[in-house]
Amino acid sequence: MPCIRCAIGLGGNLGDAPETLTRALRALSTLRNSSVIAVSALYRSAAIGPAGQPDYANAAILLDTRLSPWQLLDELQALEAAAGRVRELRWGARTLDLDLLLYGEQRIHDARLTVPHPEMHRRAFVLRPLQDIWPQAHWSEAPDLVTLLQQPELAQQVLQPWPEPRWLAARALYSTPLRSTP
Ligand code: AMP
Repeated sequence: MPCIRCAIGLGGNLGDAPETLTRALRALSTLRNSSVIAVSALYRSAAIGPAGQPDYANAAILLDTRLSPWQLLDELQALEAAAGRVRELRWGARTLDLDLLLYGEQRIHDARLTVPHPEMHRRAFVLRPLQDIWPQAHWSEAPDLVTLLQQPELAQQVLQPWPEPRWLAARALYSTPLRSTP
C-alpha cells in the first residue's frame, strides 16, 4: 500500500471528554503502519441532535498511513468500542466518535464508508479543527475551508477553543515534525 495522508475527526461528550480524546490521540499515535503528522487544538462545541446533551470536545488529526480506508475504519471503530461507546440514538451523546474525514483524494462510497465524510461541510466543529492541521484541504465540489466557515449556517455554530492542559501536552508530543513517516 502507498502512504496516504488522511484526516480524522475526534469528538465526544460523555464523561471526561478531554481525557477520552487525549487517550484516543495516544492510541492513534501507535497505530500500525501509520504516523500522526499534525494535531489540531481542542474545541468545545454545543451539541446538535437530542436536547439536553453536554457540550462536545472536538479535534482533528492528520495521519500518514499505509492502512486501507477499511482497515483504518476497523481501527477507529475498535478505539470507539474500547472507549465504551454504545450506539443508541442517532446524533445522541457518545463517549468517543472517530470519523474518517479525508483519505488522500479518494472518493469512497459503499455500505460501510463514505469519504469525504458526507456531513463535514456542514459542521464547524469538524472544519475548524481541520483548518488547524490542513488549511488547504480541498475535496470534491466544496469551496475552500475559509469560504465554507464563513457561510451563515456554519458561522453561527458555537465553537470555542478549549485550552485543556492534557490535550495541549499530548498535542505538543504527537505533532512534532521530527516524527518519522512510515
Ligand atoms: P456515527 O454513528 O456517526 O459514528 O456513524 C457510524 C457509522 O458510519 C458506521 O457504521 C460507519 O460504517 C459509517 N461511516 C460511513 N462513512 C464513515 C466515515 N467516513 N467515517 C466513519 N464512519 C463512517
